[in-house]
Amino acid sequence: MNMIPTIGMETHVELNTNSKMFCNCPVVETEDPNISLCPTCLGLPGALPVPNLKAIESITMLALSANCSITNNGMFHRKNYFYPDLPKNYQISQFDLPVGVNGSLEIILDECIETVEIERVHMEEDTGKSKHKGSGRIDSATSTLLDFNRSGVPLVEIVTKPVIKSSKEAVSYIEELRQLVIDLGISEGKLEKGNLRFDANISVAKEGDKELGVKVEIKNMNSLRSLEKAIDFEIKRQTKLIESNEKIIQETRHWDEDKEVTSSMRSKEGSADYRYFSDPDLPNMILTDEFINNIKKEIPTLPSDKRKKLIDTGLSMSESNHLGKSEVWIYDLYLDTQKLTNDCKTTYNLITGELQGQLRKAEIENLPEWVNSERLSEIITMINDNKISFTSGKEVLTNLIQNEINPTDFAESNNLIQENDFDEISKIVKDVFEANKEVVQRIKDGEEKLVGFLVGQVIKSSGGNINPSIAKDLLLKEL
Ligand code: ZN
Ligand code: MN
Repeated sequence: MNMIPTIGMETHVELNTNSKMFCNCPVVETEDPNISLCPTCLGLPGALPVPNLKAIESITMLALSANCSITNNGMFHRKNYFYPDLPKNYQISQFDLPVGVNGSLEIILDECIETVEIERVHMEEDTGKSKHKGSGRIDSATSTLLDFNRSGVPLVEIVTKPVIKSSKEAVSYIEELRQLVIDLGISEGKLEKGNLRFDANISVAKEGDKELGVKVEIKNMNSLRSLEKAIDFEIKRQTKLIESNEKIIQETRHWDEDKEVTSSMRSKEGSADYRYFSDPDLPNMILTDEFINNIKKEIPTLPSDKRKKLIDTGLSMSESNHLGKSEVWIYDLYLDTQKLTNDCKTTYNLITGELQGQLRKAEIENLPEWVNSERLSEIITMINDNKISFTSGKEVLTNLIQNEINPTDFAESNNLIQENDFDEISKIVKDVFEANKEVVQRIKDGEEKLVGFLVGQVIKSSGGNINPSIAKDLLLKEL
């Protein structure tokens, strides 16, 4: 029996505003606990929240870029629950009137475009941080320390519809969302810093079932690697249960990074358990058409636009997807160089593969200013004109990274230029035939694999400067 997994993602994105969501405490990045606090973000009685306009602008831009309809007359709700790192006993969030609804994001999966439908995009505030001493987990800790620096930092939550079909697709979706918030300039988008945090809702149903299976929520996946592994593990676990006619419990499960398993955390609360009600301390969130139109004008080039531009140069979907998610200088350098070379593949390979790899290996963080599109295009054009081999091109690049050289002069003075003169090569081929009469005869008798040996001999007698494919062509013709 075929099992069909269905996945929905909930992602929290920390915005990069200077101050918190409902007070003017600065957002800080520090290990010093509890240095950026006030009565509002500590939830002291009588303190009143004031919304951060910059955060509202950022979430509106994100919702528009994810093709959402914007709610003109929205509001903030209180989501009531107790947790030590939430001293107000409620989180200010949004309920039935979120900033954006019914959006979509285009992602690339292998060589295809897929659309992930977005259910909602809403504004809320972050909680503080708990540090569980001893085990690191609340259930077995010896004590817990609380740091409220993060309490009240603006958070945007993006919820997809249950439309994702595999762990790979979930990863590709998060990569797209991450690039989107980076390109919009509204978040640093660093997973390792917790700027993006995601939960996955996973269910499995038998093929042909009209309804989705029982949904299990997985928390605590802090890298794309753990997201992929946790989803795959959970799909397998649920599939086994269904196949042996056991019941799946609707619950929240914890991904254990070390053991690579999910384990039960708590039975899942429903939205009624949170007793949502509109926050009486905050006015309605009125987003006028004028406000929305002004934000629209500020939307920069989106990841999907960058991808289209790259596909137009001749790159494949996945190459364009990869390059569009690289650092912006790589993306710009490719486009500038491609304009000069009019070639996509060699330009892509030399810049994303060789250049990036060599810089990393040499531990060079900033590209030397003389390694520019002009010099790179000179190398690429020499390769494409068969003047030098790709291997020699790499050698020129290595030297260009170290010194301000002229690629053509360097290739010439270091004997890297290949011999493309047919008469010249023919002469060498004849000499090689003369010296290897026995081999030639064996090839004629059917030992075709010996051709490679002769090609090697031709290249050797030329001092390594013959283009192997031209040498081979001439050899075969001669045979
Ligand atoms: Zn504060
Ligand atoms: Mn949330």
